[in-house]
Amino acid sequence: RAPYQLTDVHELLDSTLQMLSPRLGARIDVVRDYDRALPRILAHPGELNQVWTNLVDNAAWAMRHANTGTSTDHGTGTLTVRTARDGDRLLVEFRDTGPGIPPEIRDRLFDPFFTTKPVGEGTGLGLDISWRIVVDHHGGDLRVDSVPGDTRFQVRLPLGPADP
Ligand code: ADP
Ligand code: MG
Repeated sequence: RAPYQLTDVHELLDSTLQMLSPRLGARIDVVRDYDRALPRILAHPGELNQVWTNLVDNAAWAMRHANTGTSTDHGTGTLTVRTARDGDRLLVEFRDTGPGIPPEIRDRLFDPFFTTKPVGEGTGLGLDISWRIVVDHHGGDLRVDSVPGDTRFQVRLPLGPADP
């Protein structure tokens, strides 16, 4: 496995958001709420890019499809990407205004191949892979908190002693 690299989380987030802008479409507002004073972290940037990509894609899908109550793509909403310091860790939060996650599927979300999307639209591997990547970052952590209209996926990564 490649060594950790000094990684600018905000730069990574911006490039992911730019890459996914066609997927977000014009009806989804993206709000960046970054704490730019946060230091770079030691991380695997390619892997974190996969995590951001999946979390943004999930949020976009939830807002675009499910807000309408139909399978047609007419939803609108706001995606807020926030960074903050949380003790000795860096918090990256993806918050969407979609319909939320029903309590009855909460404990299966991170299972491999669990998906509520139509065949061809989801593999159900995104959160499984994302969770592994984050936990593999020396004590990182991925959590979800969801009520209708406010779903937050929170990634916590160690800030590390190398670049305080
Ligand atoms: P996939 O995106 O391929 O379905 P994931 O592992 O990324 O697989 O997500 C699993 C399931 O978790 C999704 O099918 C969806 O039901 C639910 N989910 C994930 N993110 C959100 C979200 N932001 N809002 C509502 N449901 C979500
Ligand atoms: Mg996904």
